[in-house]
Amino acid sequence: MENIFDDTYFMKKALEEAEIAFQEGEVPVGAVIVIDNRIIARAHNLTEKLNDVTAHAEMQAITSAANFIGGKYLKDCTLYVTLEPCQMCAGALYWSQISKIVYAASDDKRGFTVMGTKLHPKTKIIDGILSDEASQLLIRFFEQKRRLN
Ligand SMILES: [Zn+2]
Repeated sequence: MENIFDDTYFMKKALEEAEIAFQEGEVPVGAVIVIDNRIIARAHNLTEKLNDVTAHAEMQAITSAANFIGGKYLKDCTLYVTLEPCQMCAGALYWSQISKIVYAASDDKRGFTVMGTKLHPKTKIIDGILSDEASQLLIRFFEQKRRLN
């Protein structure tokens, strides 16, 4: 039998979180953290609700996953996030020593790649999973925002 728990499966779950952010008027970025094919953290961007520039989806997910595990390191965990992490989140992910990061859309302006931020040497990175869906959601959000302003 085919394993349904692949990167696309979990990225869809992260996209569901991004949709929730969209409904709440937040920049639509969502994240889940998975261990052994099990989601242990779900989060989306909360910067508007919390008036906190650090409330990115990844930051929420890291805290939530560490609480679940009962330890600060996210070894054997995979983060699925709909947008390439920024340098703040990449820094936090570095400290978490997370095993794998899968992101959908690239962020050519503020992504960790273009910013030159290093991840932990143990962290494996995969990009481009459902990137069209993730960037369409972001484009839709910013178009709507422009119309309302
Ligand atoms: Zn970030």
